[in-house]
Amino acid sequence: MKTALVTGGSRGIGRAIALELGKSCYVAVGYTSSKDSAEEVVGEIVKSGGEATAIQIDVTSSESIENAFTTIEKELNGVDILVNNAGITKDNILPRIKEDDWNDVINTNLTGSFKTSQRAIKHMMKNKWGRIVFISSIVGIVGNQGQANYAASKAGLIGMTKSVARELSSRGITANCVAPGYVETDMTNKLTDEIKSSLNEQIPLGRIGNVKDIAYAVAFLASDEASYITGQTLSVDGGMVM
Ligand code: NDP
Repeated sequence: MKTALVTGGSRGIGRAIALELGKSCYVAVGYTSSKDSAEEVVGEIVKSGGEATAIQIDVTSSESIENAFTTIEKELNGVDILVNNAGITKDNILPRIKEDDWNDVINTNLTGSFKTSQRAIKHMMKNKWGRIVFISSIVGIVGNQGQANYAASKAGLIGMTKSVARELSSRGITANCVAPGYVETDMTNKLTDEIKSSLNEQIPLGRIGNVKDIAYAVAFLASDEASYITGQTLSVDGGMVM
């Protein structure tokens, strides 16, 4: 059975990805502080007949990343499937973005994914098999007002994916991005009903996304069936970006 690590797997999109991968893989459910929520995801996977464990991994800390990977390698051999899902927003228009808010978003969304990927490929290269899935955003493709830092981080993931895909394809490792549109989670719960209904009008399929919509796409890209797909960015957005 393959082992998958999902960063930020305790809630939102990461939680749905962990549950979906739990149908076919051993899942390490990453959390930073919300251990109880991660344990709850583990419980759901186990209840459905799967196997999982909760693992603390803060992607902004090299030490935390090293500890998490060392634990997984001791207990489960290594990470075969890495889902770089952890992400934050600190929105503001360009003149008002504080340097700390720029750095926090880049460090978590982009540098965090670089560090976990760099660590994960040690095992994948030895094994000549691996899947890396980055969770980008349609904002990384088309931009968004008030999200220069977030868009830069998510566009960066798309470039990183293509480079990593080119470097590692000869080792049986694929790297792909999923770019969600607007999905109902804590991150988007802050939006007013007015914004949500105006968003609905921009979505050809007429609804805001569900976390499962993203999880299904990730599970496919992580599967053996996706072995001929690498360096791609798959928008899962109800048709917002075509
Ligand atoms: P949530 O805010 O609901 O969850 C974010 C997750 O990231 C949490 O599990 C959180 O963990 C984790 N996280 C935050 N900082 C760190 C860190 N330093 N180290 C490890 N984990 C961290 O967000 P969503 O589920 O909505 O988003 C998940 C991903 O999808 C993000 O990358 C986001 O940018 C992307 N996305 C979301 C969209 C949406 O509409 N919701 C649209 C496009 C992309 P903890 O619980 O421990 O804080």
